[in-house]
Amino acid sequence: MADVTFGSCCEDLAEAMTRPENPTFFVEENGVLYLSIGFAETEEGLMWFDMAAIHCPFCGKQLQDKEAIAATEEPEESEPE
Ligand SMILES: [Zn+2]
Repeated sequence: MADVTFGSCCEDLAEAMTRPENPTFFVEENGVLYLSIGFAETEEGLMWFDMAAIHCPFCGKQLQDKEAIAATEEPEESEPE
């Protein structure tokens, strides 16, 4: 999954992906493309909100599968059993 390349759907995304100074799009180690949608000042500093980009924000093509992404994500909190 690490060799997935994003930006093959349209030039806009390709351009966004090839600009390292752009923190809006980033690919995590699990190969999932995330999209930063905002940030907030908290007591612990700047906190970014991001979401997995299921669809290309420019052309709307489906890039990733929600269930496949869920399978790659580590559960942040484990429910007590
Ligand atoms: Zn696109």
